[in-house]
Amino acid sequence: MPDVESFKRYLDATSLHQRITSVDVRSAYVLKGVSARELARRLKGRSFESSRRHGKHLFVRADGDLWLRLHFGMTGSLRYSKDQEQAPRPASAEASAGRHTRVLFVFANAHCLAFEDQRKFGEVSLVEDVDEYLRKRGLGPDALDISLSQFRELLGTHRGAVKTILLNQKLIAGIGNIYADEILFRARINPATQVSALKEKKVAKLFRATRDILKKAIEAKADMDRMPKSWLLPHRGKGGKCPRCGRELKSATIGGRTAWFCAHCQNRTS
Ligand SMILES: [Zn+2]
Repeated sequence: MPDVESFKRYLDATSLHQRITSVDVRSAYVLKGVSARELARRLKGRSFESSRRHGKHLFVRADGDLWLRLHFGMTGSLRYSKDQEQAPRPASAEASAGRHTRVLFVFANAHCLAFEDQRKFGEVSLVEDVDEYLRKRGLGPDALDISLSQFRELLGTHRGAVKTILLNQKLIAGIGNIYADEILFRARINPATQVSALKEKKVAKLFRATRDILKKAIEAKADMDRMPKSWLLPHRGKGGKCPRCGRELKSATIGGRTAWFCAHCQNRTS
């Protein structure tokens, strides 16, 4: 989610209050429930007025109360630039910067916003009512909006490994795999720990770690190179050493995803 929050800030700083003159869909598979023609028809002549993030979804409101929903998948991003994209593309276009552009929003000021996605897990759709969309998708509260008492209740009423719970978007929206590992490292909890085994103090610690890690990652613009060396992230991977105790990090598959952790610092019995 920190990356989605930084895309939100980027979009807010570049692309609001400009009339959309055209929408160029280059890869229709990112479109969900809307055709390229309909997307272009409904957005043309409007402008983006504001945006709202919930979990990993970014909703952009166009005037007239229509929302564009962007989901960045694994590799999606935004790029705002002068309209060189509009010019006929050279034969070597495959090698050019715009090769992963899936949808291009062109503005009246001759700039455009590109939704880029290398690995094609991104999604673009239109939404009439964001709250209704969130309800229908069954998404939980955003990880940065949730209160300690809500967090407590959530953990108290669900079973499973703590990491699986953190990753479940229907319980808490916005925590991805690497940040879940980072949060658990900060709270010194083994990712395989059953939530039912967490004492009240540990739950409070986990709650604080969730907020701290997400906020710091947003400040660092989700840029891996700007993450503190004391974090797990720069060391995550085969042969990586725990930045706290120097022991080799371990990995395990939990909830279908690879977890990295320090078996020494992150005590299973908490
Ligand atoms: Zn350690």
